[in-house]
Amino acid sequence: MIKIIKSGYRKIYYHLPVMIRGVVSGNLYRWGIKPTVNKHVRSPFNRVMVTLSADFEMAWAFRFSKKSGNDAESIGLQERENVPEIIRQLDHYHIPVTWATVGHLFLEGCKRENGLPHSNMPRPDFFENKNWRFQEGDWYQHDPCSNYKEAPAWYAPDLVDMIMYAKAGHEIGCHTFSHTDFTYRNCSESLALAEIKECKKHAVERGVVLRSMVFAGGAAGNYETLKEEGFICYRYNGVYDIDIPFIDRFGLVAFPSSYCLGERGYNWNAATCFDVVKSHIAKAISYNSTCHLWFHPSMSPWYLKQVFPQLMKYLAELRDAGKIDILTMGEAAVKLKNSQKIVE
Ligand SMILES: [Zn+2]
Ligand SMILES: [Zn+2]
Repeated sequence: MIKIIKSGYRKIYYHLPVMIRGVVSGNLYRWGIKPTVNKHVRSPFNRVMVTLSADFEMAWAFRFSKKSGNDAESIGLQERENVPEIIRQLDHYHIPVTWATVGHLFLEGCKRENGLPHSNMPRPDFFENKNWRFQEGDWYQHDPCSNYKEAPAWYAPDLVDMIMYAKAGHEIGCHTFSHTDFTYRNCSESLALAEIKECKKHAVERGVVLRSMVFAGGAAGNYETLKEEGFICYRYNGVYDIDIPFIDRFGLVAFPSSYCLGERGYNWNAATCFDVVKSHIAKAISYNSTCHLWFHPSMSPWYLKQVFPQLMKYLAELRDAGKIDILTMGEAAVKLKNSQKIVE
C-alpha cells in the first residue's frame, strides 16, 4: 500500500514547480511525515549504522541530460573544484565515504583508436530514460580524447589519488565506466560486463578492488554480472527513507538510500537544509535503524560551505558519543554478511 501511495506522490511531486516542491517537502518534514521509516524490520547491526556515498562522475553524468541548462563541462569543473574541499572536511571529521567513481576518471588521458574513442568498448543502443536521451551519434562522442591537464572535467587520476590517500579511510566504489544506464532494458549483459571489466582494469592498476556499486542515474540492473565480478553491495532507491540494508536474491547487500545532500533549488536556508538531514539521523536513531546519505560532489559551493561542514561535525559528534557507527558501504556490507554468518 505504502508503495502505491509513494509512487503516486512521487509522480505528482515531480510535476510541481521546484519552489512549490520545496514548500511541500518542507511541510512534510515539519509535520514529521517525512522521513518515512520502515518499522517492521530489525537492524542487523548492534549500533545505528550511517553510510555515505558520493557519485563521483564529473562531466560524464551530464552528457545526455534531458534537463535544460545542464552543461556537462562546467558541472565537471565545479566538481573538480569541490572535491579537495570535500576531502578536507571529511578528513577533519574523520568521516569515510564510498566514492562511486566513473571508471573513465581513473585515466590520465585517452586517445582515439580506429577513429573512435574507446573503440574496444561496446556501445549501448539508442535509448531514453528518466534523465537522459541518447538518440544520435556515438555514445563516446563527448569524450575529448585528451588528458586530465587539457580536459580536466573528463579525467581525474589526481583526485582519485587524493581520495585514496585521505586520512578518513574512504572506499573507491564503482559508478560504471562511462556513466551508462545499467537496466536490463538499456544495457545488454555483454555491455554490463565490458563496463565492469574496464573499471576493474583501471582500478586494479591503482591497487583498488571494486566491490560497491552505485548505479549511474539510479538505472539499476545486471545484478548477476555484479555478483560474478566480485561486487558485494549496491545502493538503491527504496520505498522508505529510513530502512535497513538487506541481502537480495543475488547475494548482494542492497543499501536503501535515505537522502541526497544538496540544495535542490528549494531556496531553503542553511538551517532548514541542516534540520532536514538531521531528521533522517534522528529517526534512524529512534528506530534503531540505518541511514544512507549520498551526494553529488558537484554540489553548489554555498551548500558545501554553509551546510556540509555542520553536517559532518554533527555526524562526528554522534559517532564520538557512541550513538552511531559510520562505515563505508563495503565495510557495512561485510559486517552485515558476518552478522548473518555468510562467509564468501
Ligand atoms: Zn576517453
Ligand atoms: Zn551518476
